[in-house]
Amino acid sequence: MTTRSRAARDACKDVLSRISAYLDGDLPAPQCHDIERHCRDCPACTELTRGLRETIGLCQEAGRTPLPDAVRRRARASVQALLAPTAPQTKRRREQARPPRRS
Ligand SMILES: [Zn+2]
Repeated sequence: MTTRSRAARDACKDVLSRISAYLDGDLPAPQCHDIERHCRDCPACTELTRGLRETIGLCQEAGRTPLPDAVRRRARASVQALLAPTAPQTKRRREQARPPRRS
């Protein structure tokens, strides 16, 4: 075991269970303060909160701003490049032919 106490781990779980509401601004102020106080002492939760906030910001940004064509083309090319060597045409075709649900 590490030096982290069980109470500290429970506090992290508690923060994680409320993090989504916190980031959405749906938590009452006292609960927000709880989370912020916890994050001051907990690098893991601080990092996680920061990462989520960044991601949410990027998603909101992406929803507002259409991607420039060049970026879109580059993204598509990257995805295709990633798929190409490991997913041969025959495999992809078989997956597409698979019925949508299995009983
Ligand atoms: Zn924590």
